Amino acid sequence: DHIVPYQNSEEEKKQQVASMFDSIAGRYDFMNRFLSGGIDVTWRKKAIAQLAPLKPKNILDVATGTGDVAIMTWHQLHPDKITGIDISEGMLEHGRQKIEKLGLTNGITLHKGDSETISYPDNTFDAITVAFGVRNFQNLEKGLKEMYRVLKPGGKLVILEFSRPKQPLFKGVYNIYMNFIAPGIGKLLARNKDAYQYLNNSMQAFPEREQLIRIMNEAGYSTTHYKALTMGICCYYCGSK
Ligand code: SAM
Repeated sequence: DHIVPYQNSEEEKKQQVASMFDSIAGRYDFMNRFLSGGIDVTWRKKAIAQLAPLKPKNILDVATGTGDVAIMTWHQLHPDKITGIDISEGMLEHGRQKIEKLGLTNGITLHKGDSETISYPDNTFDAITVAFGVRNFQNLEKGLKEMYRVLKPGGKLVILEFSRPKQPLFKGVYNIYMNFIAPGIGKLLARNKDAYQYLNNSMQAFPEREQLIRIMNEAGYSTTHYKALTMGICCYYCGSK
């Protein structure tokens, strides 16, 4: 037997991502509001609103983290049931506490679960949401295909994700913010500079806009489209089964 290097690199990366989110879980919500100036709430609302015409009853929130999208979707769309999955037990625990405080435990449940091997049968959910999650997937194509598999025919996926602004002047300001200011604040307030450096690095490497739409199409989604929000800092993407 000989050791094949990097054979488990995807698994290792997954473990690293989960541990990183475990370590910032307690400050995650506060940091989101602080670093985005609260605008992330507006982005989430807009993405969730894309599902309204569908009137989905059974919704899966992938990479649910501390459950913000699950909770907002509950109030915005009034479904029967929302299930959130995430690989970070630390993030989920904070989410569960919030859901309990809000008295929503009958409607929303959070489980440990991986986007790349979703433990539900084919054609289970009317709609799927993923906010700021796909960028962290270890294998994006696998995750997109799994979500497609568990989506009912006629069901809809909405992805919310950061993107890189295109307007030259704004791009300059934005890059300074993401390269220096956000990691600095992360170091100061979350005592974790690496996590916020990771945020920036993962955003630079990630396929966005037309490129992500192409990958969604390849994974099987139809009527895909995206919309840039707030000067293109963020985009939502839709696709149907
Ligand atoms: N959706 C939440 C929100 O909008 O605040 C959390 C987003 S947080 C930036 C990204 C989350 O993706 C983390 O909680 C992380 O544990 C999770 N994650 C990363 N890879 C995952 C995977 N393969 N399956 C499920 N969750 C994953």
